[in-house]
Amino acid sequence: MIIIMLGAPASGKGTQSVVVAQKLGVPHISTGDIFRWNIANNTPIGTEAKKYIDKGMLVPDELTIQILKDRIEMEDCKDGFVLDGFPRTINQQESLDSMLAECKKSIDMAINLAVTDNEVIRRISGRRMCKCGKAYHIVTYPPKTAGICDLCNGELYTRKDDTVEVANTRLEAYKLQSEPIIAVYREKGILVDIDGHKPQDEVSEDVLNEIEKYSSKQGVV
Ligand code: AMP
Repeated sequence: MIIIMLGAPASGKGTQSVVVAQKLGVPHISTGDIFRWNIANNTPIGTEAKKYIDKGMLVPDELTIQILKDRIEMEDCKDGFVLDGFPRTINQQESLDSMLAECKKSIDMAINLAVTDNEVIRRISGRRMCKCGKAYHIVTYPPKTAGICDLCNGELYTRKDDTVEVANTRLEAYKLQSEPIIAVYREKGILVDIDGHKPQDEVSEDVLNEIEKYSSKQGVV
C-alpha cells in the first residue's frame, strides 16, 4: 500500500507514519529526516537544504523531488511505503503521480491530520525529539525522565527549526504551498480526514481503523 500522511508541521505526521509503516510492514519515508541526515553528514544536499530548513522555508522542488525519487526507487519500496512530509507543493504532488504512473502504481490513501494553528505553535514550542524518531512535548507528553527518551535512553534535543519564529514561517509555508494538496486528493476521492487533536494513541486507532476499512474494501493487506 502507498499511504500519504498530510498535515501542518507538528500535526503528528511523523509519529503516525511510524505506526502505520510498522503495521503495514513497509518503509516510512520522511523527506525531513532525509534532509536532516544529509545535514548531519555534511553532504552537498545537506548544505543546500540547510539554507532553507533553518529559515522555515521549503527546500526547492527540484532537489526534493530528486531525493524522493531516488528513495522510492529502492528495492524495499516495491510493496509500498508511507510518505511523511511529501508532497508539500502541487508541483511535488504532480511529480509523484507521474513517478507512480510510470511504474503502474497509485496512492491508496491520503490521510489528513487536522490541527488548528494555535495547536501547531503550542506543539512546536514544546517539542523535544530523540534521534530514534520519538517525539515528546515538555508539558503534554513528557518523557518519564526529563530530557531522556523512554524508548532508547537517548538524549532529547530541540530541532533547530522548532522555535516560535521559525514555526510561524513554516505554518505560513504550509498554508500557502501545502494545504492546496488536500483539495486535490479530496477530489480524487482518496482523502481521509482525521482529528489530530486527540491523544496520540486515539489518533493512531482512528488512522489504523481507516486503513483497515480501506483494506477490507479493496481486499488488500
Ligand atoms: P519535517 O521534518 O517534515 O517537518 O521537515 C522539516 C523541513 O524540511 C521543512 O520545514 C522543510 O524545510 C524541509 N522539507 C521536508 N520535506 C520537504 C518537502 N517535501 N518539500 C520541501 N521542503 C521539505
